[in-house]
Amino acid sequence: MIGGGPGGYVCAIRAGQLGVDTVLVEAKKLGGTCLNIGCIPSKALIHAAEQFHNIVHIGSGASPIGILVNQPELDLAKTMLWKDGIVGRLNNGVSGLLKRAEVKIVEGWARFRDGKTVDVETEIGPQLIRAEQVVIATGSNAIELPFLPFGGRVISSTEALALTEVPGRLVVVGAGYIGLELGIAFAKMGAAVTIVEATPGILPQYDTELTKPVGQRLRELGIEVMVGATAKGLVAKGDALSVESANGQVVALAADKILVTVGRKPATEGWGLDAIDLDMDDRFLRIDEQCRTSMRGIYAIGDVTGEPMLAHRATAQAEMVAELVAGAKRSWDKRCIPAICFTDPEIVTAGLSPQAAKAAGIEFLTGQFPFRANGRAMTLEQEDGFIRVVARTENHLVLGIQGVGAGIAELSAAFSLAIEMGARLEDIAGTIHAHPTQSESIAEAAFRALGHPLHI
Ligand SMILES: Cc1cc2nc3c(=O)[nH]c(=O)nc-3n(C[C@H](O)[C@H](O)[C@H](O)COP(=O)(O)OP(=O)(O)OC[C@H]3O[C@@H](n4cnc5c(N)ncnc54)[C@H](O)[C@@H]3O)c2cc1C
Repeated sequence: MIGGGPGGYVCAIRAGQLGVDTVLVEAKKLGGTCLNIGCIPSKALIHAAEQFHNIVHIGSGASPIGILVNQPELDLAKTMLWKDGIVGRLNNGVSGLLKRAEVKIVEGWARFRDGKTVDVETEIGPQLIRAEQVVIATGSNAIELPFLPFGGRVISSTEALALTEVPGRLVVVGAGYIGLELGIAFAKMGAAVTIVEATPGILPQYDTELTKPVGQRLRELGIEVMVGATAKGLVAKGDALSVESANGQVVALAADKILVTVGRKPATEGWGLDAIDLDMDDRFLRIDEQCRTSMRGIYAIGDVTGEPMLAHRATAQAEMVAELVAGAKRSWDKRCIPAICFTDPEIVTAGLSPQAAKAAGIEFLTGQFPFRANGRAMTLEQEDGFIRVVARTENHLVLGIQGVGAGIAELSAAFSLAIEMGARLEDIAGTIHAHPTQSESIAEAAFRALGHPLHI
């Protein structure tokens, strides 16, 4: 196993459980991007920012719910220690799980010599590992803009997740999910945030119905968004970002930190890809429905194999590949890979959107239920957003469920379970959803698609 992220370490655990003699090579820290510099630390920071912002909001007298507080303060260095504590606990947890599964962990950088042999540079010297089957799980890295290299005030998400002071002025280049999640968090912690995005809208991968409530919230939080704008590089003095705005005007945005989040690229360099000459699929390693690469005995999983570059895709591939290596018959048969954008409000998608269903030539129905008609959302002061279901007209098979709303990430399980189980609109409408919860909106959206909504 090369790489100890959510792809590699999960594959190693499962292979070990199945009695396969397994070696995991990791150059940095167990848990990979996800646990150390990605999913977990970003969500910790988002939570801390949300807590702080809520207290500031209540303290400003703007909240109607009758709580009084004095001026709160944020100690970001302490926040980071708390976040590091969570990461540390999870690192130890992964290490313990690997040991329990009798996986041998080798710390160092792996490089293929040939399809069955890997050299590892470790602290105690070089090590040679021979294996019948190898799984590549090397992950991905942040894309660096050549005219805005990382260093000094230009940072990637990794450095943003380790800041010990809130920057006074933060410019975020790229309005994808990572840029927006972090931009919103820093705005809530008190930074003046500007987001620069080259395409005409934020979160270009989502439809505008879903992104509209996020755009509205950005305005409420005082975050300036420049769409159709291109970052050009630092100004001569180095303390501002030169940006060409949509109307062709070049402006200098003064910034204490410039966070570049323009995407991630598969980690295909430095580990001897040339020695084994695997087929590529654009910039990713080409894999089939069993995660096999073009060379017999070599599998690849996770971010290095394609989109969506998400931890749970890597984990699902990992579990399957471990079973294949142990001799089971498996192949990729998932109906959907849910995705969550932990912005404020959160966006959750699973399966086909109306646009995707239309593009596929499918006749479909949709039902949408707004949170402003949901009692629980009112009690949480979180009435923006909605749940939408997409179903095949012919048989009401649910093809997709999407939603946008504060704190709805946890509803993703209900979305993907329904799609994976092949639910029809009647199954969702006929399932008792506990009251009062935001999840009632899923059933209400299904009722609406069936033409008889109850609460709207
Ligand atoms: C800020 C941020 C937030 C994110 N938030 C989310 C989220 O909320 N939800 C979500 O699903 N995803 C999120 N992601 C994406 C998620 O982190 C990745 O999809 C996931 O980590 C991919 O797992 P992986 O196992 O493929 O690779 P990685 O986690 O990247 O792990 C690869 C590992 O391989 C090691 N490695 C590479 N080459 C070698 C070598 N030659 N020898 C030894 N070791 C090597 C690396 O050191 C690394 O530890 C986020 C990413 C970022 C950056």
